[in-house]
Amino acid sequence: MSNVVGLSGGIGSGKTTVARMLEKLGAVIIDADAIVHELQAQGQPLVDEIAAAFGPEVLDAKGALDRVALGDIVFRDAEARQRLDQLVHPRVGAEMLRRLAEAREANLPVIVLDIPLLFEGRKAGAGAAAGMDFRTTILVWVPRRLQIERQIRRDGYGRAEAKRRLSSQMPLDEKRALADHVIDNSGSLEETERQVQQLYASLTSD
Ligand code: ADP
Repeated sequence: MSNVVGLSGGIGSGKTTVARMLEKLGAVIIDADAIVHELQAQGQPLVDEIAAAFGPEVLDAKGALDRVALGDIVFRDAEARQRLDQLVHPRVGAEMLRRLAEAREANLPVIVLDIPLLFEGRKAGAGAAAGMDFRTTILVWVPRRLQIERQIRRDGYGRAEAKRRLSSQMPLDEKRALADHVIDNSGSLEETERQVQQLYASLTSD
């Protein structure tokens, strides 16, 4: 039977890096962010629903979703953000469950659900993670200082912008208390890879 695990982190903690390592070891990754992007591609019904809720200014001249315009609206307005989530989350959740069923049928040993807001969603009983029954959760953790430094290096943000982005998320130290396994990504990539290999071995042995 497949072992289904939830993977999360915080901005810049190394979730993408760890997901790639798990994939290399043979896990199948179901990526919530990638699904959001697919469902928001031009011509998808979700794009029409978003335009109906927020007005034509969230579409560009070709009728594709203008993420910057939409982001401007929802980052300033918590109520708008909630309305967007209510449109997006159920569809993403349904698509994740469909892919999960497919992967289960293929009898793959480890299925990883990669969900940025896994712990926030579970705490609130909402979000894409609602209703998903993970056997195990994994958190990719680094100290806050490194989250800021790696964001600056990766995205070219200033220190203030990197901190502002972190402030909208549950701190990794809080998520840590909710996770079954913690990958400490504060050392070298080799050290992280060793932890991931060990964890993968334990996931495939039970
Ligand atoms: P997330 O997906 O959690 O936002 P990423 O996997 O993109 O994080 O990692 C953030 C940045 O830090 C990337 O540029 C990545 O290459 C780098 N990085 C990740 N892990 C390490 C590490 N152990 N040592 C040095 N740099 C790292």
